[in-house]
Amino acid sequence: MAEPRVEVRRSARRRRMVSAYREGDTVVVLLPARMTRSEEEHWVAEMLSRLQRSETRRRSPARASDAALLARCRELAARYFDNDAEPASIRWVPPMRTRWASCTPADRTIRVSDRLRDVPGWVLDYVLVHELAHLSVPGHGKDFWELVHRYPRSERAIGYLEGISAAAGWGLTED
Ligand SMILES: [Zn+2]
Repeated sequence: MAEPRVEVRRSARRRRMVSAYREGDTVVVLLPARMTRSEEEHWVAEMLSRLQRSETRRRSPARASDAALLARCRELAARYFDNDAEPASIRWVPPMRTRWASCTPADRTIRVSDRLRDVPGWVLDYVLVHELAHLSVPGHGKDFWELVHRYPRSERAIGYLEGISAAAGWGLTED
């Protein structure tokens, strides 16, 4: 992922509290108005590293290996597809030029871009649900999206992926 833009907002009402959050491709750091420049530098660096650590904790265990990816697919298939979505194989592959992931329904294989190893678990889950749905419905018609929307965070995940793709200038689509 690209280095985030940082925007510092100072507030007279804040006395000690420092906080940070993501807003699109920008990290907003909230600081008390009275902080000095060197305190600001220290806290911006500190908050960026804290944010990164907390996002790292939310990554999926499926990032570890192809076997872990398959195990996660089975959990998602049980939860959203009545166990009726088993790929013949699923594996991590080096970043693809135009896609996050792809599915070949004919031989039931799924490939997932290494670029997704570091996204939050709920975003990777969406991509897996999307590819699992292609095992039954190849195109992107209404039937397909009905299946995908069984996963409640689909719309948010689509927005998240569009955001990081735009920020990094990748121009990636889902598949
Ligand atoms: Zn698709």
